[in-house]
Amino acid sequence: MNEDYYELLGVSRDASTEEIKKAYRKLARTLHPDVNPDPDAAERFKKVSQAYETLSHEDKRRQYDMGGGPGMGDFPRGGAGFDFNDIFDMFAGASGMRGRNQGPVPRQRRGGDVLRRVKIELRDVVFGTEQQVAFRTAVLCERCSGSCCEPGTSPTRCTACNGSGHVQRVQQSLLGQMVTMAPCPTCEGHGDVIDKPCTGCSGHGRTATERTVTVRIPSGVENGTRIQLRGEGETGEAGGPSGDLYVELSVKSHEMFERDGDDLVTTVAVPMTTAALGATVPLETFDGVQELDIRPGSQPGEEVTLKGLGVTPLRRERRGDIRVVLDVDVPTSLTEQERELLEQFAALRGDEAERRKGHQGGPFAKLRERLQNL
Ligand SMILES: [Zn+2]
Ligand SMILES: [Zn+2]
Repeated sequence: MNEDYYELLGVSRDASTEEIKKAYRKLARTLHPDVNPDPDAAERFKKVSQAYETLSHEDKRRQYDMGGGPGMGDFPRGGAGFDFNDIFDMFAGASGMRGRNQGPVPRQRRGGDVLRRVKIELRDVVFGTEQQVAFRTAVLCERCSGSCCEPGTSPTRCTACNGSGHVQRVQQSLLGQMVTMAPCPTCEGHGDVIDKPCTGCSGHGRTATERTVTVRIPSGVENGTRIQLRGEGETGEAGGPSGDLYVELSVKSHEMFERDGDDLVTTVAVPMTTAALGATVPLETFDGVQELDIRPGSQPGEEVTLKGLGVTPLRRERRGDIRVVLDVDVPTSLTEQERELLEQFAALRGDEAERRKGHQGGPFAKLRERLQNL
């Protein structure tokens, strides 16, 4: 489950960016893999960095606060993701010059996140479903298992920097001799050199391939909902941690039902006579054909409810309803016989209708009364 980013960093929800940065640096100083070899600390450092990554960007933070999840604002398009070296730089910047007390730079980098959009039916929203999601991604190189070296070989200590990953540069200046530290150009700061890069992955520790993942889509999801599958994104470089897979759902519109919260709403046209006399009509639902009771005297726009046949909300058992809005069809053309019958019907109803209007009052009631008494 996702941990709260504010709690991870130990700051309040209204903390300023500066406070967040300070809190992160303090944690990084004790958790960074370069200072703390404990694997638990590395795991925690990753989480804390993720929290920082989101909360330090105004847009991402706003989105997170609104419940949008981590880093949904500008989605990295593979490869980028969370960059270990950015954090390394930041950390180094906080504790002084980069490289002074640091070991070599690890080759491992976290893999990029992957975003896939998936279309689902309204029926899937009602009941939940499973979908196969196929995407192109990076996976661990089988030949070297992420070591980046040809099988049977291993990296050798860099002779240029003695494995430290840094070299000293001595410069003469007006003020005298100046010594600066710089990443070792021979090993690019890694401290070791791969003499025989793996031929399966050209020494990256991962290869590109097509993967298929089964995604469980719970009922009650919304259009635009993103499902996060941790560690199902790209495998990191040199056996680094994997990125995440995000599946964004798009719900196709349904020809009959529209969703309104947990309810499904539809409009059914009934003949004028059915509305007046009442009837039971069949209605196709996601639970099969149901009987819809139309009471005698139903009015246009009146709703008939079928309980418990709507959407099953996320993390709840009780389903919403189906609400059927009645649309009364008034005939647009009549045969002679129909017209006669309707006129007879009107004549029969005429007096009663007049009287009822009179009782109800209204602007014309008095006038009507007077005309009737003439
Ligand atoms: Zn390989
Ligand atoms: Zn070196």
